[in-house]
Amino acid sequence: MRKYFLILILILISSSKAFSDDWQLDKYDLKRAFKNNFNPPAKLRPDLNLEPVEDLGVIRRVNLRDKNLKAVALTFDMCELDTNTSGCDMDTLKFLRDNNIKATLFMGGKWMRTHERRVKQIMLEHKLFEIANHNWSHGNCAIMPRDKLEDQILWTQAQFELTQASLNNKNHLQQIPVLFRLPYGRNSESALKIIAGLGLKVIQWDVAIGEANNLDLKNARRNAQQVSRATRPGSILLFHANLVPKGTANLIKELIKILKSQGYEFVTVSELLQLGEPECVRIGYFNRPGDNVYLDKKFGTYGTGLKIKK
Ligand SMILES: [Zn+2]
Repeated sequence: MRKYFLILILILISSSKAFSDDWQLDKYDLKRAFKNNFNPPAKLRPDLNLEPVEDLGVIRRVNLRDKNLKAVALTFDMCELDTNTSGCDMDTLKFLRDNNIKATLFMGGKWMRTHERRVKQIMLEHKLFEIANHNWSHGNCAIMPRDKLEDQILWTQAQFELTQASLNNKNHLQQIPVLFRLPYGRNSESALKIIAGLGLKVIQWDVAIGEANNLDLKNARRNAQQVSRATRPGSILLFHANLVPKGTANLIKELIKILKSQGYEFVTVSELLQLGEPECVRIGYFNRPGDNVYLDKKFGTYGTGLKIKK
């Protein structure tokens, strides 16, 4: 009997180690580590409704008031489609945390639920990381009807509240997301009005490496040089931290080295917005207007994966 009890204890210790609480990447962070869950969140609307904000359009960068200031915002999208689960790039997040580098993390609500333990760890680092909204399951804001768009946004706000409520440490509360990122960078005029009505500012980027999809690990240095050449004071830089594009961590390590040597400092997007005037457009894009329109067809009617028809 005692022998079995000891074995049970050993199993418990080893399994708790596999599902550890530190910032080291483990098997549960990998793509498709969890079975896909199609269901909506456990509550469909947040308790806190934000006041509507002015419709500024799509913010791509900020013109800084202080011309000597070299502040930029690193942003990371953490998203997954309706059709499968993606990963959590702990190599990148651990590097940022270990080096005290601020970043803004645009999380999909469904992704938040899949990676709840990581979101809770990130929430405790609220001085470094700002959490923002990136739709529930990557719904495309250019082509979704109003009710679906509202669900995508508000389910994500609700999931944020659910995760925050499950935190034991109540001394480290993050504010509910006030910033929003368009999946695929796509929007319509009416989407901008709906999003502003829900109290969120639409944040895009002025620096994106291609569509950031297939970075070559070996070329991290060259990619970092390319990104650094495009970076200016007030820039908002787009990356991913969901293990979908390969090589983000290596790119970030090289890039931070270069930007630090050039005197850049890293702030969250909300902090960057306080430092100057936003530069805005009415329709989002990656690097040139229109370069993301083809994605409307590639990812199905609602932009959330080809297999799901809603
Ligand atoms: Zn995304």
